[in-house]
Amino acid sequence: MNVAKRVKELPVSPTRRYLGMAKAAEKRGLKVIRLSIGQPDLPTPREYFEALKQIPEGTVRYPNATGIDEMRTAQQAYYARYGINYSADDIFVTAGAMEGIRFAITAVCNPGDIMLLIEPFYTNYNMITHLFGVDVRAITTRAEDHYAIPDESTFEAQYDERMKAILLSNPCNPNGRVYRREELETIARFAKKHDLVIISDEVYREFNFTPHPFISFYELEDIRENLVLLDSASKKYAACGTRIGTAATSNTELKQAFTKLCQMNLGVSSTEQSAVAALSRVDERYHEGVREIYRSRREAMLHAFSKMKDIRYSEPEGAFYSLVKLPVDNAENFIQWLLNDFSVDGETVLVTPAADFYYTPGLGEDEIRISYCVEEDDLVRALRIIEKGLAVYPGRK
Ligand SMILES: *Cc1c(COP(=O)(O)O)cnc(C)c1O
Repeated sequence: MNVAKRVKELPVSPTRRYLGMAKAAEKRGLKVIRLSIGQPDLPTPREYFEALKQIPEGTVRYPNATGIDEMRTAQQAYYARYGINYSADDIFVTAGAMEGIRFAITAVCNPGDIMLLIEPFYTNYNMITHLFGVDVRAITTRAEDHYAIPDESTFEAQYDERMKAILLSNPCNPNGRVYRREELETIARFAKKHDLVIISDEVYREFNFTPHPFISFYELEDIRENLVLLDSASKKYAACGTRIGTAATSNTELKQAFTKLCQMNLGVSSTEQSAVAALSRVDERYHEGVREIYRSRREAMLHAFSKMKDIRYSEPEGAFYSLVKLPVDNAENFIQWLLNDFSVDGETVLVTPAADFYYTPGLGEDEIRISYCVEEDDLVRALRIIEKGLAVYPGRK
């Protein structure tokens, strides 16, 4: 038996690569503070659990393949609060945003076509493109520029006739950038000129810590027919386990494609859809409260960074991550050293190596991603462990 090359070649997700080592450290009696996985630690709102209790007995049938009405209507109402006026039948319920991304790529790219990514990007993006035989071009954004989108000529320089789509997350995982209107307009002009589809992954839309409002590509009317908007309950409602997301588009051809793909998958869990639909009764105060918690963690993190020597970072504006450049040759070695050879008062830290967030070889090798989905005390202690570790790390530059 042979496992297919395209799967064999898939890297192990960098957020999971060192879990074995972390478990081994725990076996030795250490506490490992995990700043690696981007999964909200706050409780899922109780509307979710109440709705689960309401599920009637009887036969659990296949749901409507494109999503149950309650869920599509709930997402429609959620979007309408932000002036995003999709009709319920423009909205396709997917198994998390990940399935929405797979659908969008499947619908838009043939093998050998090109997807444009903005690097650093969410690593699953280039895993999927790899799996689907889709080539990647990347636009590099940098900490020195606060990860701003470069001008259109940089995009033109990457253009190729095989390019079919642009996939990006906004707010951005892993660097926390919340794109300004002008940046979205740059991308939109380029996409419009070459008739590319914009796949906008907005799973962090509620996690914006800037004073300016979050702006969705939806607001740029010119590009609306070329747009797929992705959303998910995972981050928005601290409900990663539900695996419920949505893909929305008003483009007739894409809607037909999504319908076929949903039908082929026979829909996603009806139970989870009804429970997530009930989360639409959660009001804005919920998100305000959540933002306050993350805002405070973010400040604590930035305060800790400001005291660390020889690191470089850009203040994250949204999501719940920060990319940090360390004074080391290789972040992976440092991460392993933290787990295997270092601790402070019985504790050590697991963080994510950043090289996988880049397409361009060499970039990110001395960077880590920190996720602040842990309690503030743990976060502060974890950052102190990193600081102390860097001071004595043998591979320090
Ligand atoms: C976490 C994450 C996802 C995955 O979302 P699911 O709805 O859980 O599939 C997608 N995109 C980005 C940018 C993420 O960080």
